[in-house]
Amino acid sequence: MTPSFVPSLIVHGGAWNIPAEIIPECREGCRRALEAGWRILTSAGSSLDAVEAAIVELEDAPPFDAGFGSHLNRDGRVQLDAIIMDGQSLKSGAVAAVERIRNPIHLARRVMAGEHAMLVGAGAEQFAAEEGLPLCSPEDLILERERAAWRRCSESDHLSEFHFGHQHGTVGAVAFDTSGRIAAGTSTGGTCCKFPGRVGDSPLIGCGCYADAESGGISCTGWGEAIMKIVMAKSAADLLHAGKSPHDAAEASVALLARRAQGTGGLILLDREGHPGFAFNTPHMVFGYVAPKGEFVIQP
Ligand code: ASP
Repeated sequence: MTPSFVPSLIVHGGAWNIPAEIIPECREGCRRALEAGWRILTSAGSSLDAVEAAIVELEDAPPFDAGFGSHLNRDGRVQLDAIIMDGQSLKSGAVAAVERIRNPIHLARRVMAGEHAMLVGAGAEQFAAEEGLPLCSPEDLILERERAAWRRCSESDHLSEFHFGHQHGTVGAVAFDTSGRIAAGTSTGGTCCKFPGRVGDSPLIGCGCYADAESGGISCTGWGEAIMKIVMAKSAADLLHAGKSPHDAAEASVALLARRAQGTGGLILLDREGHPGFAFNTPHMVFGYVAPKGEFVIQP
């Protein structure tokens, strides 16, 4: 008989300064994501399926900067990035700067199944069409709240308070399944008013996401240009591999981000046995995980 492992799941909706009035909506987004992923894991489904399903829920939820409701770039368009990674094979699939995909995590999963690791822009959309994935209109990704923020930025200086008090809200998930397989994923609309074509850490292997059966799975959030400098997800994986606890590996990674790159952000992780860890140096990070008895723990 093949050994059965206790499954585990952790999700996040970004490290940012969350206005009090939308915390309930963020918590609800995390709850739905946990529910979607946990349903798969508790029916002996795969960690990859659980990560994909959890991230779809978060991409579809308006408060987060991923999928529908993402920040607009300097030209008033949404450009999305996503990655998914399998810890057994070390295969990953990523897409960047896509404008006509409602759930870029689905496309990233298709990329992973193919011969390449990352596709961007028009090529990624061409691949989606060839794979039979639906293409949406760029307008379908725009939430009025974000268009209004972009208008105010265009008319004066780009200010974070125009953006609903925040400039972040990337989403991610890490899952460990009953076969002992670990997977991680991250999806984002990137930073608000970014230069067209700008890609941050989120879809880059080792930066915004990493999964390795020998260490663990990680999804990051925060200031992408700083996270890239310290290759944060792989740095956290290396700390786990060196024997740090999930808590200490997460804290040390965020401390490194602050010390070496003067960056703000956070991360969630599971070690190779599925034990969760998290850390952030922003006012809040919205995240949730499934505790050992199966109850959902969601913060803040
Ligand atoms: N890391 C994302 C980026 O720089 C933003 C975020 O996580 O909030 O694109």
